[in-house]
Amino acid sequence: IFLPHLVASLEVEETYIMVKPDGVQRGLVGEIISRFEKKGFKLTGLKLFECPKELAQEHYKDLQSKPFFPKLIEYITSGPVVCMAWEGVGVVASARKLIGSTNPLQAEPGTIRGDLAVQTGRNIVHGSDSPENGKREVALWFKEGELCQWTPSLEPWLVE
Ligand code: GDP
Ligand code: MG
Repeated sequence: IFLPHLVASLEVEETYIMVKPDGVQRGLVGEIISRFEKKGFKLTGLKLFECPKELAQEHYKDLQSKPFFPKLIEYITSGPVVCMAWEGVGVVASARKLIGSTNPLQAEPGTIRGDLAVQTGRNIVHGSDSPENGKREVALWFKEGELCQWTPSLEPWLVE
């Protein structure tokens, strides 16, 4: 079967990555940022943020009808989150792979959730699931002026 969202893209994309409140409380912010930095993606936005309920509801609006939705909103607004925008070739699908499966017990060792978490309701990190949602979520969580366009000096060593 052809699953286009799982095939590595050759396009420069943006994705929204967020350390959820449990990741912040557990002191995993540096570790999580590090995984994306070391991979070679470009950080274009970063802030510590207390997420209002309305924003959490908008971010997760596709899951509105799920029985766990109220608990999910409570979880995401239970403490500060770290909001990030990352850019790179194929970054959306690659970030999802680095993050691992939604249920941390099923996530492969070597992934963030596989190495650092045990429960779906405490899975420490979010990553956009498509390039369209990457754009939508970066625009939802960041104001204009909070994002930074820059050229890392290492770029020629990462992209041919
Ligand atoms: P993701 O894209 O891997 O984050 O997973 P989804 O988009 O399906 O769900 C969004 C988030 O909702 C997940 O990361 C979990 O934090 C939460 N979630 C999903 N399914 C469940 C569930 O069955 N129970 C609970 N408590 N939370 C869930
Ligand atoms: Mg999702």
